[in-house]
Amino acid sequence: MNLVIFGPPGAGKGTQSKFIANKFNLHQLSTGDLLREEIKNKTILGSKISEIINKGELVSDEIVSDLIEKFISNKNFENRLIFDGFPRNIEQAINLNNLLKKYNQKIDIVLKLSVSLKTIKKRILERQMQENRSDDSEEIAIKRFETYEKSTEPVIEYYKKSKLLKVINGEGSIDEINVEISDIIEGI
Ligand code: AMP
Repeated sequence: MNLVIFGPPGAGKGTQSKFIANKFNLHQLSTGDLLREEIKNKTILGSKISEIINKGELVSDEIVSDLIEKFISNKNFENRLIFDGFPRNIEQAINLNNLLKKYNQKIDIVLKLSVSLKTIKKRILERQMQENRSDDSEEIAIKRFETYEKSTEPVIEYYKKSKLLKVINGEGSIDEINVEISDIIEGI
């Protein structure tokens, strides 16, 4: 099973992806984590990525598509991927479809965590204290939310048409959301 998880910044995509990965023996593929790794390694690409992330904008489609192909083409992860934070725009959704086709795979389920802006602001500020992420200030969080609404929401409409989309109330507790997601996956 390959799964896509959507949600605005601070919706809990990372937390829920880790839970699903453990419970169902899948691999969490977070483009945000891969990009942060690139920054940590202090490469030239990393410094360009850092600038974009700290503006709350999207890194180029080419960079992220190259990053994810390494995983889709890896037999160890075949039909075991959770795409966390990818695709983030229509071009990436088309790239993902093409890449999956190239390696004889498909998306089986798309989860959307639905959360209000008020909750997002609260969670991001909490996370800033715990993880000290450079893009977790209130100002950048609002920009990231706007980027999500402008570029990523249309992708959700795209998946709605293919009937793969399941919307989850992301306002609940981590445990409540865990249960809701598990029920959906087990029901496939
Ligand atoms: P995340 O950890 O998913 O919240 O991502 C943090 C930041 O990394 C985003 O605000 C973007 O700047 C960048 N990023 C993550 N995934 C993507 C993607 N699929 N396409 C473009 N930029 C991305």
